[in-house]
Amino acid sequence: METAGTGSDWEASGAATIWRGDRGVYDRGDTVCVIGAGASGLAAVKNLREQGFAVDCYERETGVGGAWNWRHARSPMYASTHLISSKPGTQYPDFPMPDDWPDYPHHTKVLTYLEHYAEHFGLREHVWFGTEVVRVEPGDPDRGLWDVTTRVGSKERTSRYAGVVVANGHLWSPKLPRYDGQDGYRGRVIHSSAYKDPAQLRGLRVLVVGGGNSGCDIAVDAAQQANRCWHSTRRGYWYAPKYLLGRPADQVNDLMSALRLPLSMRQWFGQRELRRTVGDPSRYGLPKPDHKLYESHPIVNSQLLYHVGHGDIEPVPDIKHFTATSVVLANGEEIEPDLVVLATGYLPRFEFLSPQLLDADTDGRPRLHLYTFSRKYPTLFLTGLVQGDSGLLPIAHWQAVVIAKWLRLRDTDPQRAATFWTSIAGTADRRWTQAKTTDSTRHWFELDHTLYLTALQRVLSELEAAR
Ligand SMILES: Cc1cc2nc3c(=O)[nH]c(=O)nc-3n(C[C@H](O)[C@H](O)[C@H](O)COP(=O)(O)OP(=O)(O)OC[C@H]3O[C@@H](n4cnc5c(N)ncnc54)[C@H](O)[C@@H]3O)c2cc1C
Repeated sequence: METAGTGSDWEASGAATIWRGDRGVYDRGDTVCVIGAGASGLAAVKNLREQGFAVDCYERETGVGGAWNWRHARSPMYASTHLISSKPGTQYPDFPMPDDWPDYPHHTKVLTYLEHYAEHFGLREHVWFGTEVVRVEPGDPDRGLWDVTTRVGSKERTSRYAGVVVANGHLWSPKLPRYDGQDGYRGRVIHSSAYKDPAQLRGLRVLVVGGGNSGCDIAVDAAQQANRCWHSTRRGYWYAPKYLLGRPADQVNDLMSALRLPLSMRQWFGQRELRRTVGDPSRYGLPKPDHKLYESHPIVNSQLLYHVGHGDIEPVPDIKHFTATSVVLANGEEIEPDLVVLATGYLPRFEFLSPQLLDADTDGRPRLHLYTFSRKYPTLFLTGLVQGDSGLLPIAHWQAVVIAKWLRLRDTDPQRAATFWTSIAGTADRRWTQAKTTDSTRHWFELDHTLYLTALQRVLSELEAAR
């Protein structure tokens, strides 16, 4: 196991101890705490370091890469996962993926890329691996300090930090629907997080539930490995192929954004291109899309319609209820799968933070400015908590740059920082997409990356001007 140091190192280095009740708290001075060493946490460590901050990053697992590290118990990756966003829109702006990599690399390549990123910028030495954050509490709220309690085995330690960046990912806690009769069902039911390898499907009758990207990928795996595959979706979706007009589909979309075409025109053009390339989804027996393109994050899958067209995937409606041996669908059809895979998504979870600190609503949705800044605490941040129409890494990078520059401004010019903070705290909640989306957890942090990155750029310009 790799570790950045031990508690006794800190004692040896003379780190002061503050007393909080009967608990000793290590004072880490101006050090910033980052929670998680996935793509977002690594970007935070790098950019905070570049602004001159000492950083302690805590990572529950024993390596970097977060979700992309398939060795991690909570990784949602399965053997066939490839990028959905193409290489240029996925890589960090300051660390390109190799030229000879394909447009949509395999998940193991993404992990290699993140490991190289950590290596190149010397990030590992700032990460405490195998260390879970169990509590984050205001330490000295007036000074913006935080007490972070970590656990290794059964040993807990609390350290005081000048700021906390939460980068704990939001694709690890399964969102599980409950259906009538499910408890008495004798077949197997798993969540997609437990799906790792197509061998799990071989020779079985499989029902895949959910029309998101994972659901579609798993249905495609089942089409090739299972005895029979039903794919249940509640709504109609647009199924974009990975290539449009001979280019990765997201690059065509970016081109339209760069031309500053209004959303309605992009929707018209995109829907027309999809109809011309793959045809009307209802021709394949799939429900008609009940929304316009870009009003849900895109399903990017070139193989799903192909397999539906070959009869290897049978589209079916929502589940009504289970019996002991079957699944009854909304249209009354009764099917008898051996295995049901619930690709029903994930819920964001922050067990180490009380909901009040995140200004969370009754559903648990944190209220944040720019999906990044706490509205109440100027030194508490979240990164990577977005559901976008593009790769996440560039977004995590620019969020980290904004956080690091903001914290630096607090140090160098507290008065200007206070003015800046008032403007942030006073800004009304807003959505970062012009498209209408449903209020499901799937769209809580929906964003149009062009709109969002422009907003981050504006904040950066304000921070630069304030220096
Ligand atoms: C099938 C699939 C396909 C995807 N395809 C794409 C794609 O094409 N492009 C794209 O950009 N994104 C894609 N994603 C999204 C992917 O999740 C992000 O790219 C990225 O992994 C998010 O990084 P993160 O650092 O925010 O979160 P994570 O990768 O989840 O990392 C969070 C880290 O925090 C650690 N952690 C959590 N809680 C604690 C704690 N209490 N204490 C200490 N450590 C903690 C975790 O162990 C983990 O290492 C895909 C996801 C899936 C599931």
